[in-house]
Formats: sequence, structure tokens, C-alpha cells
Amino acid sequence: MSSPLREMDYSVLQQCIHCGMCLPTCPTFDATGKEKNGPRGRIALMRAIADGRMDATRAFGEEMYFCLGCLACETACPAGVDYAHLFEAARAEAEESGKLAAPARSALRAFFLRGLFTRPRLLRLAGSMLWLRRMAPLLPKRLRALALQAPAAGKSAGIRRVETPARVRFRVGMLTGCVQDIVFPDINRDTADVLLANGCEVHTPSLQPCCGSLHAHNGDIRTARELARRLIEAFDPGKLDAIITNAAGCGSHLKTYERLLGPSAAEWSRKVKDVHEWLAEIGLRPPRCAPVKQKVTYHEACHLCHGQRITRQPREILRAIPGLELVELPEATWCCGSAGVYNITQPGMAARLQKRKMEHILSTGARVVAAANPGCHIQLENGARELGYDLEVAHPVTLLARAYRAEGLNFSEAATN
Ligand code: SF4
Ligand code: SF4
Repeated sequence: MSSPLREMDYSVLQQCIHCGMCLPTCPTFDATGKEKNGPRGRIALMRAIADGRMDATRAFGEEMYFCLGCLACETACPAGVDYAHLFEAARAEAEESGKLAAPARSALRAFFLRGLFTRPRLLRLAGSMLWLRRMAPLLPKRLRALALQAPAAGKSAGIRRVETPARVRFRVGMLTGCVQDIVFPDINRDTADVLLANGCEVHTPSLQPCCGSLHAHNGDIRTARELARRLIEAFDPGKLDAIITNAAGCGSHLKTYERLLGPSAAEWSRKVKDVHEWLAEIGLRPPRCAPVKQKVTYHEACHLCHGQRITRQPREILRAIPGLELVELPEATWCCGSAGVYNITQPGMAARLQKRKMEHILSTGARVVAAANPGCHIQLENGARELGYDLEVAHPVTLLARAYRAEGLNFSEAATN
């Protein structure tokens, strides 16, 4: 049995200086006030295992799964603690120890992590069968609430393998993502159109494997490595100026491939760009449509603001849209409770965070909330539905694509391939 915490670079475990500055930013510590439910306590447990002072117990595993992995502690930390790395190793330790093993849990992990999310064709087929929500009224009461949270599958994005604008400034690859591709394919279409409008030739390999973030964040580093290798092979990074992602959770993980695979993935890690980051880097072409007269607030996905430290660029995009009024959201960087599959594994805490987020959104008076991660998107839509609040959740790139289209030009039709 391997021990990911004992095998990892020990200097990462030594970074914490126990100052506690992360504690007020940690949603689980905020909820319970207990040291063990905060970053400092969790890191102390990880280090105790790495030092051989304790072995992973069931309580340790449960604590690591109570952590959201939101990385708010990383942003707050003056010592530069690499909590993302620690978190992945700690969850892998919990899995390797077998202390959380139970037949149903093991079967679900095998089915989802190694069965479904390693096979893009099968995943797409399963996605097209996301009819569960429509069956909700027929289900027993206990299953009904869960079924109502299941997203509906979206229609195909109709993205061609290569799409070329009238004048090519850059060649970029586009990652379609698993959940994004199945549930929100329109966001991928919007992303491609925005890239075309900004002079980027868009290369989109069909049947891209999962990026592996779900696996890395759930203790299956081996599968995460395998998927990372396969995804790099699906693209040809040497021929591209950048590889674009529009999903915060994927982007945050995609940038760690060099840590996961070593120097062979250095070029990949360097070229992966979140779409907002890329547009800011190349200089966004502002839309020239009539004023949209829309009040919008912006929820910061954890893996965009904490995981990638991208906070300014999405706001710049929103402010570039004529007539759009951007109202700041109180606690914009506080997790909404989605956190991968956290709303399934920890429904109580996830619901508490969702309620807090929805109250803040309502306080802004905005009828549109922009969010750049499919998990947040689903969590916010579900929150609004439960409250009966008429709220649109939209990716910033969707709002930008609408503004470009309002100029009268359909950028995908302008593509030549
Ligand atoms: S990742 Fe989030 S929940 Fe976990 S310790 Fe850090 S701040 Fe707390
Ligand atoms: S802020 Fe950083 S150094 Fe201070 S206790 Fe938290 S993780 Fe440790």
C-alpha cells in the first residue's frame, strides 16, 4: 500500500507556519469553529501522517472529504501554502488506506471514476440520457429531491474540428470539458464564437477525454495521470498558441499537469489558459452593439479566483459590454457549495452554502448572475429554482457572445471550415 503523503515532496508539508490567517476564509471552519475543520488543523493531520506519527483513520478520511477543496485558504495564506497539492495527496491517502471503503461507495467510484469518466463516448451517451429530472414526479420522495438537482442535457454545440475567422491572429485549441459539453454545450459554442471574434482559429478535437480533475480531487491520482496523458495526445500543443478552457475547475487542474507528469507536460501547462485570461492577454475586442441595459452580478468560481487567481479579467469582459451594469456580489469569492461532487457527498453543508450565496445574489437586485464553472452554474440554478427566484445564470463569455451577435454578425457563420 502506498502513502501519498509520505511520498510527496516534504517541503510542501512544511510550508504552513500555523499563523491562522486562513481560518476566517474557510467555509467549513466558519460553519463549525473547530480547528480540525479548518486548513491549519487539516494540514497538521496530513503532516502527522507524513511524519509517521499517525496512520490514516476513517475520521481522517471523512475530514478530508468535509473539506471543500475551495482553496480560499491558499489565497489567504501569507506563507504560500500549496493546499491544492496537499488536498489531492490527502484524499489519495484516504483512499489508499481503505478506511472509507464500503461496497456501495467502491461500486460508485469504480463506475463513475474509472468506468464512465474515462470513456468519452460512453460519457456522451450517458449525458444524452440525462432525463432523470423529467422523471422526478414519478420517483419516491427521497429520490425526488436528488433527481430535481440533476442537470438536463443540452443540445449539441455544433462545433467543427477547425473553425477559422476572416483574419487569423492566433491558433488555439479548445477544451470542451465533460459536464460543460453535456449540460452546457451552448457555452462551448459561445466560447468558440468569442474566440473567432477575437481573431483566433479554433481547433477542437472531437471526443476529448476527461481532464482528470474529478479523479485528482477524489483520491485517484493514477487515473488522473493517465487521463492527462491522453488529453495532451488529443491536442498538438506545439502547433497551438494556447489551449483554452472555459470551466474553472478544469482550468485549475489542467495547469497542474506539469506537477502530475513532470517536465514533458511543461509546454502544456504553460499554454493552458482560462478563456478570460486569454482574452485579456491578447486584448479583447470590445463589442459595438447597442446598450443591453442589464444588471448583472458576478459569482467568482473558487477554482478561478483561488485556484488560478483570475478575478479582474471576467469583470473586464462584463464591463466591456455596452450598457451592462455590473453590481458587486457580497462575498463573491465564498464557495457556493458545489465543489465538484460535494453537493452529493455533503448535502447539508452544500445546502447551507448555497442558501448563503443565494441570499447575497438576491440582495444585489440583479436578475443575471455570471459564473464561469459548470458546477457553480448548476448549483446556482438549483438554488434559484428552489427559491422561486427568476434568475438567469450565464457564463461571462455567453453574455459577451450575445453582445457580438447583436452587432449583426454571426461569427460561426463567418468561419470558413
Ligand atoms: S480548501 Fe476550502 S474548505 Fe478546505 S481547508 Fe481550504 S478554505 Fe477550508
Ligand atoms: S494561513 Fe497558511 S501558514 Fe497560516 S495557518 Fe493557514 S495554511 Fe498555515
